[in-house]
Amino acid sequence: ESKKRIAVVTGGNKGIGLDICKELALNGIGVILTARDEKRGKEAVEKLTTDYGLTNIIFHQLDVTDHSSIASLVNFIKKNFGKLDILVNNAAITGLELSQPIDEKLPQPERAELYQKYIVQSYEKAVDCMKTNYYGVKYMTEAFLPLLHLSNAGRIVNVSSTRGQLQGLNDEKLKKELDNIDNLTVERIDHLTNSFPKHVSDNTVEEDGWPPRCNVYRASKVLMNAYTRIIAKRYPSVTINCVNPGYVSTDFNSNTGPLTVSEGAQGPVMVALAEGGPTGQFYDRTQLSTF
Ligand code: NDP
Repeated sequence: ESKKRIAVVTGGNKGIGLDICKELALNGIGVILTARDEKRGKEAVEKLTTDYGLTNIIFHQLDVTDHSSIASLVNFIKKNFGKLDILVNNAAITGLELSQPIDEKLPQPERAELYQKYIVQSYEKAVDCMKTNYYGVKYMTEAFLPLLHLSNAGRIVNVSSTRGQLQGLNDEKLKKELDNIDNLTVERIDHLTNSFPKHVSDNTVEEDGWPPRCNVYRASKVLMNAYTRIIAKRYPSVTINCVNPGYVSTDFNSNTGPLTVSEGAQGPVMVALAEGGPTGQFYDRTQLSTF
């Protein structure tokens, strides 16, 4: 078993994930930068290696929606390191499409406004979004908990969003249900996840208590947060938290966010590197907040 701490970061080839990989590596962690696309992932590792002279960062393919891809990464970590110390579930998709592109030359507040205005949803995109943002986190967690238990300080950081906070919901019944972690079950969260795409195509999201026109991205993060809290409670020997990185300029929002990727990575990196600290919590950037 390696003494050095080992981290896996999902969606590490660009955006906030790439900066999380860089920062963890600069802090002496052995980083497995993963990406669903081998070429994009290898190029990202090469760039970090040359730009920062890092030798403690390697690539492994990982598509969080693909069970065999997850299993192959588990085997790789088991064989080479015998444990995992840090899992950063960062990979996500918006599940939304833009009805028209946004002119990059427009000033910042206008671009952000147009971004909200041009958002369109579909059943297929909603299914993909839940598969990546909810089930991706769930399957990665289930697959890596045994290896995280073999670390003496296993940690999971789930990159979340303010969109995932309960204050954004209007239905008191749904809010209470999702906040009542002692009585909530993973089966119930799965059920809400599975029913969402059909509600999108039927325009009936309110039937399950979601706000009018609630988009799948919000729902995916709300449900991922609820899942995180249940798992954190069930496995107290692993530290499991959610972190909102802040509104960061990346491809995710057609680069409309005001923060840089390094500002966005600060919260997730701090929570990943912390020693001890609370479990089952929501951090707003580097500040402990509430779900
Ligand atoms: P990016 O779009 O820049 O990066 C997303 C990453 O996830 C990419 O590497 C992408 O890979 C990867 N990814 C997508 N689907 C999969 C999959 N099935 N398997 C593996 N990797 C996948 O987005 P950000 O860096 O902005 O987002 C990172 C996280 O931060 C997300 O969880 C997002 O929800 C969260 N967040 C971001 C905010 C922001 O303002 N940017 C605000 C709040 C939260 P590929 O290159 O192949 O597409």
